[in-house]
Formats: sequence, structure tokens, C-alpha cells
Amino acid sequence: MTTLNRSLFGIALLAFLFGWPGSRESRDFPRTTVVGERTFVTHNHLARHYDFPRSRPDEGVLVLQNDRHRLVLASDSRRAELNGVTVWLHEPVLEEGRRWLIPENDVRRVIDPVLRPERHVHELGRRVVLLDPGHGGRDEGGRGAMGTLEKEMTLIVSLRVAERLRDAGQRVYLTREDDRDVSLAERVAQATELEADLFVSIHFNTSANRDARGAETFVLPAAGYASTANVEQAPNPPTASGNAYDGANMVLGYLIQKHLLNATGTEDRGVRRARFHVLREAVSPAVLVECGFLTNPREERKIHRAEYREQLARAIADGILEYLGTALRTQLDDAL
Ligand SMILES: [Zn+2]
Repeated sequence: MTTLNRSLFGIALLAFLFGWPGSRESRDFPRTTVVGERTFVTHNHLARHYDFPRSRPDEGVLVLQNDRHRLVLASDSRRAELNGVTVWLHEPVLEEGRRWLIPENDVRRVIDPVLRPERHVHELGRRVVLLDPGHGGRDEGGRGAMGTLEKEMTLIVSLRVAERLRDAGQRVYLTREDDRDVSLAERVAQATELEADLFVSIHFNTSANRDARGAETFVLPAAGYASTANVEQAPNPPTASGNAYDGANMVLGYLIQKHLLNATGTEDRGVRRARFHVLREAVSPAVLVECGFLTNPREERKIHRAEYREQLARAIADGILEYLGTALRTQLDDAL
């Protein structure tokens, strides 16, 4: 071989062994397809990459299932189901003839974090959890027909979550431990000061529709996308600090929602996206949990019962602990 041939062979060999520079991503991620100006993953490439047996859509529904995960997608819909938990995508899944197109952003920031959480939960630092009981002081939050106050319920549940986490040996702080005014900016400032590794804001819901019920967990939309609740709202600007944790936010939101559903059997309103101040400005993975509707008479009665609040608290704590367990395993694997 000439010197030139030898060096070309060397480069080719290196490329074969380690991938071309910048191609690492593509080996870690399903093959993408550009249609128009948008990037998608076809359902067959998705199935191949995540080891799902090939599956054909049937009547507008596509089910991908293996022994570890079950993913259900619906044609022309943002609603998806991951392991029994409703998850709202940023954009609808498109049906194009026999192939389905799943937006690349949603594969990357919604589906991948649930299927491969260990890739999204690095760098846990001092493992400090900051719980944020919603409202307080002059800000009562929502109020039920029986007079149940959101600010009281959030505090009771948050204190119980803290206790359970401390019992598990976890370092926990709260943005308030009694009935007082705490501004949104102060809540974020506390997270910054404590160098919190996780931020979990706890709320109860209200609606003009008395039938509305169930639990939902909010995470920040990806940069450039709008909230689930309000698609007309301007998209999330690319400057939100919370977007640095897109994947980890999703892992935490999914785990808390999963434990809430399992523990209480409450209606699943899903993991949703909103640009709440505390999520947008977060300095760590952050979620906001809406535990149930004070404006639904049946749900208000449940929330009024200490045993139900205990179930809620246990579920939220279990979600946080599962997240921390995943992070710890990832760190150990990285260290080996
Ligand atoms: Zn609230």
C-alpha cells in the first residue's frame, strides 16, 4: 500500500470503529427522515432502534410493545401512552400512507427519556431535593365548594413527601414550611441558593368545569414549542434555563405521574407541558404536579381525607426516589 492509501485505509478503519466525527449522535438515535422542512422518525425506524417488534398501525392506532415497554401512538394526535401513562407530545404524529412520522423533537425529548432514562439523568451533585408547596399566605390558590384551600393541601402533602424522603435518607428542603407569602421569584431563588438537584412544585387544580378530575404533571415545553394547554400561546423562547434539563424533566414528570396513577387510581390527565415560571427558570430538573381538582365535588371529598393525601404524598415521594435511584445507577455505571 502507498502511504496515501495506507492513511486512507487508516481513516476508514477509524471511521468504521468509532463513527465519523459528529456521527455519535446518529448511532445513539433512530434514523431520521426529513419531510418538507421538518424532521421525523418513521415508526419502523423507531421500532428498530428501541427493539420493538415491527408493528402495523391499526385503525389510527399504533402499538409498539416489547417485554419492557409499551408505546401507543395515535394518528394525527399529540396524545401518546407510555407504559400506561398518558404523555402529550409537542406535535401530532402524522400518518403518511403506510408509514407513520413521529416528530424528531418528541422522540428525543419525550419518548427517549422514558425508554432510556439513564441517558438523561446525569450529574446529580449533592442530591438535594427542593419541594415547593404551591401558594401560601395571602395567595390561597384554588378553593373547593366545601371550602378546601389549595394552599393548605399543598403544604400538608409537601410536608409528608418531605418526611418520606428524609426517612429514605434523602436531603430535602421546602420553599415554605408554614402559611406564608412566597413569591415565584423567591421560590426560584431558593433553588439557586440551595443548589437544588431536583425541584418539585405541588399543587391542586381548579376548573370552571366541575366534572374535570384527575392528576396531571407539568414539565417545560422544549424551546420553540407552546404549552399543551394553550397551543395559541407564543412558543417557549429558547432562553429558558429549564430547557437545559428537557430529558431529565420528562423522566421525573413521567415517574411521578406513573406513581400517582398506580397509588390512587385517579384519572390520568397525563404529562403535559406549560411554561410556568418555576419550570422556566429552574436551575435543575423540575416538575409541577397537580394532584387533583378541588372543584370536582367527589375529588374534593377524597382530597379532604388524610388517607388520600397520604397516598398522594407517598406516590410523589416514590416517583422522586425512583428518579434518584436511576441517577445513582447511571453515576455508578459512568464511574466503572
Ligand atoms: Zn396552584
